[in-house]
Order: sequence, then C-alpha cells, then structure tokens
Amino acid sequence: MNKQYVFSFRDGDGKNKKLLGGKGANLCEMTQIGLNVPPGFVISTDACLSYLDSADDELQSGLMDEVKQHMQLLEQQTGKQFGDKDNPLLVSVRSGSALSMPGMMDTILNLGLNQQTLQGLIKQTRNERFGYDAYRRFIQLFGKVALGVPDEKFDEVFDAIKAREGMRADVGLTAAHLKEISELFLGVVQENTGKPFPEDVYAQLKVAIKAVFRSWMGKRAIDYRREFNITPEMANGTAVNVVTMVFGNMGDDSATGVGFTRNPGTGENTMYGEYLVNAQGEDVVAGIRTPKPVQQMAEEMPALYQQLVELRNKLEAHYKEVQDYEYTIEKGILYCLQTRNGKMNAQALVRTSVEMVSEGLITREQALLRVDPEVLEQLLHPSLDPKQAAQPVAQGLPASPGAASGKVMFDADRAELVGRTGDKVILVREETKPEDIHGFFASQGILTSRGGKTSHAAVVARGMGKPCVAGAEGIEVDTSKRQARVGTMLLHEGDTITIDGGNGNVYIGEIPTVPPEFSQELKTLLQWADEVARLKVMANADTPEAAARAVEYGAMGIGLCRTERMFNAQERLPIVVDMILAATPDERKEVLERLLPIQRADFKALFQVMAPRPVTIRLLDPPIHEFLPSERQLEIELERLKHLRDTVNGVGDLMGALQLLPGGTAKTVTPPAPFNDNGIELIDEAIAKKELMLLKVRELFEVNPMLGHRGVRLGITYPEIYAMQIRAVLEAAAECAEEGMAIHPEIMVPQVCTAQELLRVKDNVLEIQRAVEQEHGVTVDYKFGTMIEVVRACMRASKLAEVAEFFSFGTNDLTQSTFSFSREDAENKFLPFYNQNRILQDNPFEVLDVKGVGELMHLAVDWGRQTRADLQVGICGEQGGHPASIRFCHDANLTYVSCSPPRVPIARLAAGQAALLASD
Ligand code: PEP
Ligand code: MG
Repeated sequence: MNKQYVFSFRDGDGKNKKLLGGKGANLCEMTQIGLNVPPGFVISTDACLSYLDSADDELQSGLMDEVKQHMQLLEQQTGKQFGDKDNPLLVSVRSGSALSMPGMMDTILNLGLNQQTLQGLIKQTRNERFGYDAYRRFIQLFGKVALGVPDEKFDEVFDAIKAREGMRADVGLTAAHLKEISELFLGVVQENTGKPFPEDVYAQLKVAIKAVFRSWMGKRAIDYRREFNITPEMANGTAVNVVTMVFGNMGDDSATGVGFTRNPGTGENTMYGEYLVNAQGEDVVAGIRTPKPVQQMAEEMPALYQQLVELRNKLEAHYKEVQDYEYTIEKGILYCLQTRNGKMNAQALVRTSVEMVSEGLITREQALLRVDPEVLEQLLHPSLDPKQAAQPVAQGLPASPGAASGKVMFDADRAELVGRTGDKVILVREETKPEDIHGFFASQGILTSRGGKTSHAAVVARGMGKPCVAGAEGIEVDTSKRQARVGTMLLHEGDTITIDGGNGNVYIGEIPTVPPEFSQELKTLLQWADEVARLKVMANADTPEAAARAVEYGAMGIGLCRTERMFNAQERLPIVVDMILAATPDERKEVLERLLPIQRADFKALFQVMAPRPVTIRLLDPPIHEFLPSERQLEIELERLKHLRDTVNGVGDLMGALQLLPGGTAKTVTPPAPFNDNGIELIDEAIAKKELMLLKVRELFEVNPMLGHRGVRLGITYPEIYAMQIRAVLEAAAECAEEGMAIHPEIMVPQVCTAQELLRVKDNVLEIQRAVEQEHGVTVDYKFGTMIEVVRACMRASKLAEVAEFFSFGTNDLTQSTFSFSREDAENKFLPFYNQNRILQDNPFEVLDVKGVGELMHLAVDWGRQTRADLQVGICGEQGGHPASIRFCHDANLTYVSCSPPRVPIARLAAGQAALLASD
C-alpha cells in the first residue's frame, strides 16, 4: 500500500486539518511543540471517505495492518500491551473533522477492556472500583456507539441498582455494585445484539473505527452541517484519533477538566473552566456532576494549578488564538488531551480581539479578520430592562448572555414543533445532549437544571449566540409529565418564562427588555475597521429616530431615505389620499401645499441629526394606489355605510312613530350622532368620499404595479408631487444654511431608465433651487443623482452620468428586473425550493448575485465613470448589509454601501475586512 492513512502524533502534519481533522492535527501539533499529550495516532479523513464509499462495509484493505503497527509503537512508548492481562494498554477512539462540530459525532473511551485486561487494570491501579467503573462505562459506550444498543437499556439497569441501593450520585456506588452493573451490561449487549460482547481487542478497535467513521453520516452531524452551511470543501469526512487513555478517576490526585484560555462569555483574560476530582472527561461535558470552577484548583491542587496556568499560556502563545482545551490529571501528572480554537460569543470575540492586540499577541489586521461580521448581530441582543422589578424564581449559571422569553418546552421535538409555528420557545431540560440540537435551533434560549458553564447546553448555545442559563438546580424537570417544579410552583409546558443568560436569573412570565449598548471594545474594533476600509457605510433611514440610531452605530450618512414612508403616519395619510383624489393639477397643488411644511420639517429634522453627514433623499417611488385601501376593502366599507344609512333612516322613523304614542316618550331622548339630524348628511358625505376612492382605485388599477406607474414615471406624469418634495428638501436645506449648519443633501430619483427622465427632473430642481435661493437669500448646496435599479439604466450608465452626480444601485429592484423574479412573491413561492436543490446557491434578494446582477453593476460603474470620473457609486438594496456582497462592492470599486441601521456595525467590519482581503 503506497498511500499513508495513519499518522503518529509525533509526525502528522499539524497544519493539515482537512486530512487529519482539527483535533488530530492539533494533537500532532501539541505533541510536536512539547506539550504533554498522551501518545497516539490519527487515521485520516481519506480513510473515512473510502470506508463510507465501500460497498461491503469494509475498511480500506491494509488499513488495520497500518493501525496495528501504530498500536505497537504505542506499546513501545507506554510500556503497556494492548490486550495484555497484566499491564493493558487502553485507548480512546475519537472523531474529529476539519471543522469542529462539538458533540455531533461519536467517541469511545476505555477501548481494550475485556474480562482479562480488566484484571490487569485493577492490578495496575490497585483500585477495583476504578476498574469496574471504567469497564461498565466502556460496555455502555461501545454498546451504544459501535453496536447500536439504545442508551436507555443500560440506564434502566444502572438506575435500578442505584434505586435499590437508595443512592442519588454515582460516586456512592462500590466496586461490588459496579461489578454487578458491568455483568448486567454484558447481558444487555447479548440480549440486544444476539452476540456476546467482543473480547478480542483488535476486533473492538476495528468495529469502533468503523462506528466513528459512520457517525460522519449520522443525522445529528448532517443536521449540524446543514445548519452551519458546512460544505464538503470545508470538511469532508471525520478522522479517527486513537489516543492512549489516561485516567482522571484514579483517586483524589486525579482529575479531569475543560478550560478556555479566556472567558468565552465575556472575553475577560482569566483562567476559565471547570474540573472534577476523581472523574472522567465525559462527566464534565455531560453535566452529570456539577464541576468546580478552576480557581478552586489553586487551593486544592496548587502545584497542578500552576502547571495548568503554564499550559494555558503556552497554548495561547503558540496558537495566537483563544483555545478550548481538555485535560486530565492522572496521579498528579497533567496531560493535555485536546485543544481547538475556542467558540466564543460576539462580546468575547470582540473583547479578546482588541485585548490580544494590546498584548502584542496579534496584529490589528488579524484582530479584524478574526471576527465574522455576522456575529456582531448577537451584540444587538436585548437585555432585561433594568427598571423591571420582577423577582427571579430560580438562578443558574450565566452560560450564554442575552435575555429571552418564550413558552417552556421540555423536549427538543416539541420545541421544534412549536417553534416552527412562529411561537417563541425556551427549551428547558435537565441537561442537553447532542441529539437535542434541533431544539436549540428552534428556541430563543436554553435553560438546564444541571451542568456547568462548559456543559453541552452552554457550549452549543454560546456558539449559536442564544441566551443560556445552565445548572439552575432549583428547578426540577420532569420531562415525562411535561412539567417542572420551581420551589412551590409548577411550570407547565406552554407557560411563559424569561431567562437572563447574563446573570443566570430565571423569571416567570415575559419581562420587558432594552436594546443593547455598544461596548468600548466594539467601538475600537469598528474604528480600526473604518480606518482600513475604503467603502463608506451609510444607513437606510427614514425618520430622525432611525437616523439617530444609525449614527450611534457609526453610519457615515444616510444612503437612502424612502420618503414614501414619511407619508404613512396616521395624521398624514388623509392628506395623501386627498392628493390622490384631486381632480385637477391645481386641486392637487392645493393639497400638496398642506404636505409641504410637513415634509420640510421631516427633512430638516433628518439634516439636523445627520449634520454634517450626507443625507440622500429619494423622491416618491411606490405606485400611489399603495396609499389607498384595496378595492375589496372599499366595497365592504361602502356596503356597511349604506346599511348604516338605512339604520339611521330607520331610527328617524322610529322617533316619529314614538311621538305618536301616548305620553310622547321620544321627546325626552336626544340621539347621538350619526343618529341625529346631521347623521344622514355625514353618512352621505362619507359614502361620497369612499365612492370617489373606489373609482380612483379602479382607475389606478395595474396588473403589474411593481413594473407600472411608479418612481420617476409618477414624478413626470404628476410633476407637482416631485416639485413639492424638491421644494421641501431645498427649503429645509436653506433653513439649515441660515442657521449655519453644515449639511449635505442629495436628491435621488428612483426607477430611472433614460437620461430624458433625469433631465426633466433636473430642470425642475434647478428652477425650484433658483426660487428658494432667492426667497432665502442663501446658496443651497446639494447633489443630484439617480438610482440604478432597472437593466436599461445599467446599459445607459454613461449617458445617465452626464446628468447624475451619483449612482445608487437599488439591488432589490435590479435583482427583480435581472431575474424577472417578483420581489414580492419569489421568496415564498419557488425560491426556497431553488435554494434547497442548489439550482440557485443563495437567495439573490439577500446575497448579491455577483454573476448576473454583479456583472451589470460592473458595466454601469465603468461606463458611468468614463463619463464622470468622480462619480460616486453606492448600493442601497438589502444586499448592501451582507458581508459577502460588501466584499463584492469593495472589489467593484463602489464608494459606499447603505443598509438598515442594525446592520451598520456588521457592514463596517465587513468593509474593513474587504479592504484587508483585497490587499492580501
Ligand atoms: C431597491 O430597489 O433596491 C431599493 C433600495 O428601493 P426599494 O426597495 O424601496 O424599491
Ligand atoms: Mg427600488
């Protein structure tokens, strides 16, 4: 056999994660930089792929020979023998792909134990309890992972013995109990597989290797890869690491622990982690016993704590990245079992990035590239309103920050089911396991009653940026009854609770939250990004409040103010309706006179918030029928009004009739409007108005309104509307100029397809400018530009640039017109199918389609700048806030991107990264 499939830790290439998996490569690297790693070897991902491809469920021929040679090397290194009855070598068989997928694949520990080697282990350790404990753990794990025996079968036996002995914790079990359990476990295997538990240690090894390889295609692993978009190019197959077992459960001078080189929840530079004395690794991760914080080790095992501090320092100095490591102390000797880049939440990522720069560990560029821009979204998580006075009903560990409310669900399937209906859900479990992953995806937050800050629930929630409270021991979860007891209270499925992952508090009901604040570290990081970025980041904002938020997030201006959104306010809509109903241009002008001061005040308020930053105001864009009710709604309303008229007439008749009665009762009753004398008049007026509206709605009806009478087409056919808006902009600018404010308005025309359209609007602007300047006695400075959102505009870019001083790509419409996909319908009709079936890689309304829309943009930029070398070009469609699209915009030489205010921080970082990656 020529190709090498098995690599010793001493000589495997520590950089080749694709071949050796992240864990395997790291074990090699750690061994080679002199850390105390238990001897072992890696079987490559190639071997996994070839096994998964094999038709006969067999490993690559010759692979087991190679494995045997390496086992013999391990025997030499450790002085132990695999399968030996006196001094047996035991190994763990661990999965590990190129990308970390925590808990998604399988691992088997204590492999090599059988009836004979067990006696050797007991002899070597002089600890019968330890021997049987290791044995029963091995039978269960091997039985489950390699032989497919359900976990519960073992748990039932185990729990029955514990119950019989009246014990709550496993540590109370004696050697005799564990021996009995081991024997019963062997019976469970025989019963469920029809075969005895394998005694041959090489047979065990072979079956285990196959099982770990197969776990790459397990449901959990596949779901995880789909959720996190892990493609075969990123990670393909799992490697298998065969590592000499070291034991943390050999007595009180043994321990096992997990740690992060910094706090992964806050980023603070301190020792962080947990350990358990006299325990095995899985006890910490599974949350079976609640571990102690590592700081306690400083008192309990000071010399070892010192070694751990050294290990941590070495890991960071070497990897120049926060590490998530596991270790075991066996009889006073510290072994590092694994290390990988630590998964942190956004807050920790940002803080460590900035601090590692000031410590000289990494450069600013590395710090910027280290943070995925999308994770900053987590920092926009709300926290509980500090003014709320609710009392927590329980407290656990603050395992992943952020506050969340939702309906309690006690298992992942129910959480998924209810979450899918759009309800907010909190997954509440005693502890979570990897098979609960779909419940995490569906939940707003996770609450567990057991386990620590490095338990499965905590690690996974942090990775997803979801709030998590772990180990809230005051809560007793009863999954079978779908309820939990909190003190004297009972929580049922569907009850609402709130968790605060920042302090570990749990509340009954929904507690109000407040928006997040920017940390100093985030400000610093984003400032570094701004310094290297070439693209400016603007915001799409239509109100002074949104503009203020955008400024707070670091927006450098407003790239798109959609003026139609200003018309939607309750008190304005009736005026807009009157404008639409106007029968003549003069009537329309009259109504527009009423709108003018309102718009002027809007613009002035925006300019004030943004000064001295530019504000791009887009003239009215949507079809005007959008401001009117639908035809159906008007018909219903008219029908009701007519009924009402009949009723009022009827009331009049009633009054007349009552007067005829003896005593004249009706005289004493004065009916309220509309049942009084004016009633019919009022109703008739309302009916007339609605009928006029209905007529107008029918007149304005278009089969394809998005391609119809909207944008500049509207502005040209009803010039008074644009004239009012232009005047409002220029008058607001003049007033600001009078007040000495430095402002930079930009007037932008939507839906342009020919330069003639632009010229007409421009003439209008110039005329109004002259008038306003004369009236105010000041010069008004502004820019005039166009949106590029139809294909013809791209083709005519050189001509448009003769009139326009700037272009702004409206990629929502440009995507629609390039694909001929309706932006209103595609996303909930066929696009999901297209994406799932990889007919289209992404949703082009979210991620810029660089191959189609992008090519048009390239042409428009080139042709536009041929006419006007200093042409400013931006993008203001939704894609403008998407990191990959921002990278494209940088490469396409755009001047700015504009996105919604909450995406501004993400866009700033992405713009900085784009500049760094482009200059690489
Ligand atoms: C666009 O089309 O990309 C755009 C920004 O305009 P709107 O979404 O308002 O049509
Ligand atoms: Mg548009």
